[in-house]
Amino acid sequence: MQNREIADSKRGPELSDGEVDFLWWFIQGSIMDPDVRQRLNAHWGLCARHSLAFFVVEAAFRPHLIHGCSILYRALIQRATKVLDDRGVHSLMPANACRFMLRETGPCHMCDLQYDEHSAASAPLERLAQGRDSSNARRFAVENRSGWLPFVCGRCTGNAGPVLCRAHLIDALGQPHAGEVQSQHAYVEAIGAHLANFENAFRWDCRDTDTPEDRGALIAAIGWCAGWGQLQASLLDGLI
Ligand SMILES: [Zn+2]
Ligand SMILES: [Zn+2]
Repeated sequence: MQNREIADSKRGPELSDGEVDFLWWFIQGSIMDPDVRQRLNAHWGLCARHSLAFFVVEAAFRPHLIHGCSILYRALIQRATKVLDDRGVHSLMPANACRFMLRETGPCHMCDLQYDEHSAASAPLERLAQGRDSSNARRFAVENRSGWLPFVCGRCTGNAGPVLCRAHLIDALGQPHAGEVQSQHAYVEAIGAHLANFENAFRWDCRDTDTPEDRGALIAAIGWCAGWGQLQASLLDGLI
């Protein structure tokens, strides 16, 4: 293994055994459980730590089929697009109603189950080691950088970009001139369109039709929902 690859495999959160084991079962199908989906919807996905963990673990086990993450974040971004749509029936929605609809209404599903950096698990060691190896996730981020970089939240990262993540958009909608902020819907809509292409490419007859912009939209969606701070400090270190 080259030095660069060794360094890259260490980028990412330090996941506990319990977190890896939970997410392994999660991607086997428990994510589709209606109760779980409802909880994920209530929180707009998972918290910053666990949404990153979900992506890292799914990429570790299924580098060419990051499907659970894609389905979840496509649905959340579609919902956000509807909330922010200033061209349709929502055009008269006041900023406060937007803020209300973008907020979380429940805890992070994994935090609520008390998974954190100290959680233990009695799973095979090989599985735990594979799940916490973030090199596939890092490679995905590097190769598809052109897809997520334009959507990085300027307030999370201190860059000068115009895009706001969900939490910072909620803040901005509480300020005077909040109407202008509704133009954010164009960014969210663009993330959603690319994510739709990415998800479509999982179909056999559409395989290899996705672009780096489409794949990178998955990271953009995770950042939009949960913020970019944790991503910037670990998986995207040096890339923003
Ligand atoms: Zn959490
Ligand atoms: Zn932000």
